[in-house]
Amino acid sequence: MPIRTLLSALSLLLLLETGCRVQETPEISVPSQTPGRAKNIILLIGDGMGLAQISAALYSNNNKLALEQFTTIGLHKPNSANDLITDSAAGATAFACGQKTYNGAIGINADSVPCYTILEEAEARGYATGLIATSTIVHATPASFIAHQPIRIFYEEIAADFLKTDIDLFIGGGKRYFDRREKDSRNLYAELQKKGYLVSDYSIEELSEVSLNGRRNFAFFTADKHPVPAEAGRDYLPYAVKMACSFLSKRSEQGFFLMAEGSQIDWGGHSNDGQLTIGETLDFDKAVAAALDFARKDGQTLVVVTADHESGGMALNPGSEMNAIQAKFTTNGHTGTMVPVFAYGPSSKLFGGIYDNTEIYFKMKQALGFLTETTSASP
Ligand code: MG
Ligand code: ZN
Repeated sequence: MPIRTLLSALSLLLLLETGCRVQETPEISVPSQTPGRAKNIILLIGDGMGLAQISAALYSNNNKLALEQFTTIGLHKPNSANDLITDSAAGATAFACGQKTYNGAIGINADSVPCYTILEEAEARGYATGLIATSTIVHATPASFIAHQPIRIFYEEIAADFLKTDIDLFIGGGKRYFDRREKDSRNLYAELQKKGYLVSDYSIEELSEVSLNGRRNFAFFTADKHPVPAEAGRDYLPYAVKMACSFLSKRSEQGFFLMAEGSQIDWGGHSNDGQLTIGETLDFDKAVAAALDFARKDGQTLVVVTADHESGGMALNPGSEMNAIQAKFTTNGHTGTMVPVFAYGPSSKLFGGIYDNTEIYFKMKQALGFLTETTSASP
């Protein structure tokens, strides 16, 4: 026993000694100055956006996309825990939590245990956080970053989960799940206001007409349920990304985490509608341009663009010409092909190569320095 006591005393001394030495090394004691560390992350998800969707948009836009500006490109393997073909819930939960889960799961793992999302962690660490979608804001992709529900169609429960957080900004459709609920009589629109949020919606004003107050969290509903397609005049996504970057960068000295989704690219795949797919992908690409514009000026922002999966088994068939694509589809569901990942900014090099979709989570955490602090404690 006394030997063991002596040994632990010695190891404690060693630990203290090492600790002191570590503190003297400037690179380690000031982790925020580690070269390549990202202060902010903008994660842009084009739901259902595989290579064919990107190619069709490119060739329908005079052979030009903002996506071409990325220099680091990788591929991720999108399969879920229970199916080679993922859905958007498992796909987004993989990005949000770093765990493969079953199709339909929102922010919970394969054992039905809630997982701590990167957005929740960023919020807890004092970062400003935001979610933007062109579907309802309670739809699978945005929901998986903030809610914890066993089934993706629990829209009202997902809406209620938004109130359990202090997310700084969210913009998307789905007002009805907040203010005219069927399962309870809560009015989450009013509850958000009571919590101090500036809340507004499409029935009052356009998003571009809102004057933001930097000291209040912000929620904006772009539709009662799903917003209309870009083809029908929906154009808020690029502006919302621009607005969110400017707003969030002023909300915290620490940095921000923003996820913005081009939700309806997927729906073009489901309906085997090439024009819808192309219109949605081009709208999403404008949001990519807005994010790159901010990141280029800011210099401390990592932009990651990817998809949860490919939708429709889309192909550019023979007979396609520049600005006249013959799109064909193999399914009205999702497919299992690997999905491209584009990265720009500090730590962007981490995203080159081929890896599981869950790695996006760990790479983002590493870029923000969230991993280094835990790993530096162990050696
Ligand atoms: Mg989605
Ligand atoms: Zn889908």
